[in-house]
Amino acid sequence: MAVFIDAIDEALPQTQCTRCGYPDCRGYAEAVATGAAAINQCPPGGEEGIARLAAITSRATLPLNPDHGVEAPRVLARIDENWCIGCTLCIKVCPTDAILGANKRMHTIIAEACTGCELCLPVCPVDCIELDNASGEATGWEAWSQEQAVQARSRYQKHSNRRASSMRRPAKGHQATPAADEDRLAASSLPAALDTSAASSTSAAIPMPSKVTNGDTTPATTAAPSDKKAMIAAILAKARQQRGGSNQA
Ligand code: SF4
Ligand code: SF4
Ligand code: SF4
Repeated sequence: MAVFIDAIDEALPQTQCTRCGYPDCRGYAEAVATGAAAINQCPPGGEEGIARLAAITSRATLPLNPDHGVEAPRVLARIDENWCIGCTLCIKVCPTDAILGANKRMHTIIAEACTGCELCLPVCPVDCIELDNASGEATGWEAWSQEQAVQARSRYQKHSNRRASSMRRPAKGHQATPAADEDRLAASSLPAALDTSAASSTSAAIPMPSKVTNGDTTPATTAAPSDKKAMIAAILAKARQQRGGSNQA
């Protein structure tokens, strides 16, 4: 069975987008292998992806199930750094660690590592993540190579291993959380050019109180929880107001 699952997994695009209804490509591969899932639930793989799964499983081909989305050109996420408030929420959901940044610093996306899964879009509180067409008219496997799939799976495996290890790591002298660990990793990988701690023109547009962090991690701070919530709400309100004004202009 494991070999069968591996073969199915290798035929999937590895965007880890969850559109198939499973938490990742491996989960869908396992469900297809056991017969729990149909072979037509992966929009990034498209028609060719269904044909691949049909050949491996000896099942009949089917049209893509529209309940899971449509076959479309590949997209790349892009952060409008003028509006990013550095909340780090997108870093936490990105399956391939394609986003660089740290608390209160603008974030940016590594184009080569972005699978276009779109998981970062709904978590951004100021809607500053856009999607760009990355493949023109090409869709499915015409828009995505086997090499890219292998790279995406490798990045996802490293991401998953790191998360699992941070969950297991005992707190030593402090109450570190997995999310806080992720922030430190993100911060340590931040290129110097992106370090906006020295008041860049973009981050200056939205003043960030020095003690505010995102609401999930809340490491060392002297502000009371209710004060922190109020400050975060004020920052988000101001960002939305400014972004709304900009869109109307
Ligand atoms: S690419 Fe997305 S829809 Fe396709 S198997 Fe992977 S997670 Fe599921
Ligand atoms: S940057 Fe966004 S779209 Fe790209 S891989 Fe990460 S979560 Fe997915
Ligand atoms: S979720 Fe949005 S605001 Fe928060 S760090 Fe990511 S891009 Fe910036």
